[in-house]
Amino acid sequence: MVDASIPLVIRNLHKRFGSNEVLKGLSLTAHQGDVITMIGASGSGKSTFLRCMNLLEQPDAGDITVHGEPIAFTQKRGKRVPADWKQVERIRARLSMVFQNFNLWAHMTLIDNVIEAPTHVLKQPRKQAREQGMALLDRVGLSSHADHFPAQLSGGQKQRGAIARALAMEPEVMLFDEPTSALDPELVGDVLKVMRGLAEEGRTMVVVTHEMDFAREVSSQVIFLHDGRVEEAGKPHEILANPNTERLQQFLAPRF
Ligand code: ADP
Ligand code: MG
Repeated sequence: MVDASIPLVIRNLHKRFGSNEVLKGLSLTAHQGDVITMIGASGSGKSTFLRCMNLLEQPDAGDITVHGEPIAFTQKRGKRVPADWKQVERIRARLSMVFQNFNLWAHMTLIDNVIEAPTHVLKQPRKQAREQGMALLDRVGLSSHADHFPAQLSGGQKQRGAIARALAMEPEVMLFDEPTSALDPELVGDVLKVMRGLAEEGRTMVVVTHEMDFAREVSSQVIFLHDGRVEEAGKPHEILANPNTERLQQFLAPRF
């Protein structure tokens, strides 16, 4: 039985694509207010791990527990699949994800992007969702852009809009997959500032990033993935300043 006060507990997660075993037994515990940053080379499994957390990919083995609620799996034609897709929908609402490429709906204005899930999934009345959505856009510095379409926004504005959209679901854990990697360098700062604000207000976050200053200054724990395994993990000042493994030393060398 996992403590219901812990937002996210993952134990021994495995995932393969065909013969390629991508995740080889990953575990992670995010306590309330933790900011866990995940670093590692391209192809080490960071995105797949994040996508397994909210069931965008189905793990082959391992347990995922959200605030004490274990995700139920069953076997179907020799494959392990979620037992209850209603539960998956609920879990996705509780663990909302911000993607590298924003994934805003192009045919909707920014505010409509923000209120889409709250009105359809959480069944919030439109007026209430809109008021809350406008407050969130204000918070990420975009209230004057509410009626713009994504194509009319810069990359940084799109990403801040995507963060507002994720926040609109009042998630218990926010998952970020390289949220600044697709941005021009001058736009990265505004997005990181919003994320720092979320961390300061005590939100629980799992962040895949190559922004080492963010990892060092904001995270409670840094996890270094290598080839589908946790190669090293610890407090940022410990593992970033004094990496134990040669692999992490090599990974960090060009970044400092
Ligand atoms: P990272 O985010 O650390 O760069 P990924 O999780 O995207 O790593 O990828 C890890 C490995 O899994 C890579 O070898 C990649 O090619 C493979 N992979 C990821 N997604 C798929 C998929 N949908 N189908 C097949 N292979 C995949
Ligand atoms: Mg990735």
